[in-house]
Amino acid sequence: MIRKVDMYQCVCDGCGKSHVDDFNGYVAWSDETMASEAAYESGWTNIEGKDYCPDCYEYDEETDEYKPKSKEENI
Ligand SMILES: [Zn+2]
Repeated sequence: MIRKVDMYQCVCDGCGKSHVDDFNGYVAWSDETMASEAAYESGWTNIEGKDYCPDCYEYDEETDEYKPKSKEENI
C-alpha cells in the first residue's frame, strides 16, 4: 500500500525556491534538522534565522559577513 507522509524541505526566504539534493535525488527529508543540514551542505546558509539559497545571499566585504541580496540587485 501507499500512504502519504509528512516530510521537510528547506525553502529559501529570499526567492521561495525549495532545496533539492540533485546529487542524491532527494527533495525532502524526514526531519527538520536533516533538511536544513542537507541544504547547508549544498551551499545554503542561515542569516538571522532565515534560510537563503546560494542565489540569494552574498559576501559583504565591509562587515566580513554574509548578507541576503537586496531585491533591487536581483533585477
Ligand atoms: Zn533564493
